Amino acid sequence: SDNHLFAAFRSAIPSLDKPLAMLADGSSVSYGEILTLSARLAGLLVARGVKPGDRLAVQAEKSVAFLALYLAALRAGAVFLPLNTAYTLNEVRYFLGDAEPALFVCGSESEAQARRLAAELGLPAVETLDADGAGSLTEAAAAFPPSFDDVARGPDDLAAILYTSGTTGRAKGAMLSHGNLLSNAQVLKECWRFTGDDVLIHALPLFHTHGLFVAANIVLLSGASIFFRTRFDPREAIELMGRATCLMGVPTFYTRLLDQPGLTREATAHMRLFVSGSAPLLAETHRAFRERTGHAILERYGMTETCMNTSNPYEGERIAGTVGFPLPGVSIRITDPTSGAALADGEIGMVEVKGPNVTKGYWRMPEKTASEFHDGYFITGDLGMIDPRGYLHIVGRGKDLVITGGFNVYPKEIEGEIDAIEGVVESAVIGVPHPDFGEGVTAIVVPGKGASLTERSILQALEGRLAKFKQPKRVFFVEELPRNTMGKVQKNTLRDAYKDIYR
Ligand code: ATP
Ligand code: MG
Repeated sequence: SDNHLFAAFRSAIPSLDKPLAMLADGSSVSYGEILTLSARLAGLLVARGVKPGDRLAVQAEKSVAFLALYLAALRAGAVFLPLNTAYTLNEVRYFLGDAEPALFVCGSESEAQARRLAAELGLPAVETLDADGAGSLTEAAAAFPPSFDDVARGPDDLAAILYTSGTTGRAKGAMLSHGNLLSNAQVLKECWRFTGDDVLIHALPLFHTHGLFVAANIVLLSGASIFFRTRFDPREAIELMGRATCLMGVPTFYTRLLDQPGLTREATAHMRLFVSGSAPLLAETHRAFRERTGHAILERYGMTETCMNTSNPYEGERIAGTVGFPLPGVSIRITDPTSGAALADGEIGMVEVKGPNVTKGYWRMPEKTASEFHDGYFITGDLGMIDPRGYLHIVGRGKDLVITGGFNVYPKEIEGEIDAIEGVVESAVIGVPHPDFGEGVTAIVVPGKGASLTERSILQALEGRLAKFKQPKRVFFVEELPRNTMGKVQKNTLRDAYKDIYR
């Protein structure tokens, strides 16, 4: 028997000297070098007492060594547990206490506090890994052999625990198996036509499903190469497009690209695919990008717990404002959020997913896991609708639904109308406690530079376009919406900031 996921990566290696990662300083790291580094790191993990099934927690800057550490964890049969670099000490305390890793890897600047935390929580070992790949981890690994006997792992064995983004509450640890990750990467590779000729611009973080399990896994499974970047610089990305074939990004990548005059048809002529996900891509962004470049951004939909669920087609129409069709092997159904009964196409309800991609459950949360499954389907928490052509539309999160005077208001519909008003850049509609209506529909609007918008002018523009109960009771202007690193609007933060306005 072999190591389910890593064996697939290993057999996809085109040649040992092919570059896997091309770095900003012009150097590159070959497949052979990654293989060797991951073997040495796997040897070190075993020596540090990391046994199959043990968790390896990592809070470190993006680097090639980080990627090699992920592979090392797979090879050693450990469970890779990357943590958002933005988490504070208190948050890390919760995650480490929850996950009880056999080893915690952190940046050397936080080594002292990590050691105190490890002592407090009884964690056995701490190593450091810095942005440049240096640190005690790689230093110690250098003494280990360049090859490693991969630990056998089956499709049901855990490969990773990934915490959700915490957009709607405290982040939950989703358990992902070798089978979850490999099946999803295989399907995406096929659907998006990845081959060894591809060169991906990778500027996403490696602690999130998008950058790690979509972007990196597909590349590793295709024997492709990466322009490996630790942050997204739209100008640099445009330059790279002359030598790249694909970009995977969050919607803010695309709005930032559109701000660049250098984004043209010519500049993007070498590219074959632009993918967007992790947050809703405005239909307006999709249209503007197509106008400027001739490329229709391919929007897909997924989440930490399920990897990817749906995708717009590679061939066929990519429809703005939709997330496309279920991936092969994945079933999607829409149900009534209260009764759980299946709904017909065209009706808005809870999106539920079933397939080989879906998590076994949340780490050490059996009740939560049980309550998020419904006859074998995972309840995503997102509201959506399937249109007559079979495309899934995400209309927002269940938790963002506004219930005002007993009526349901879907923020996305209101946001769409507000965004269409001249001078509006974007908006977020939230429900805020209201003494008469339960919740009051409230709009937070980002005006364009020099736009002369007022609360009155917005409300007037919406009159006649939206039923009375859907119209915002108040409109507020802000310079920008609060977003996390994945470009997700933090509606919890907004609801909190405006919670007293109707009192
Ligand atoms: P938490 O579950 O902790 O509240 P989160 O749901 O934001 O956080 P992730 O797993 O990173 O954590 O994000 C998955 C969510 O992102 C989906 O449930 C969905 O709401 C949103 N999402 C992802 N892709 C898209 C998309 N293409 N369009 C709209 N929403 C999307
Ligand atoms: Mg979620």
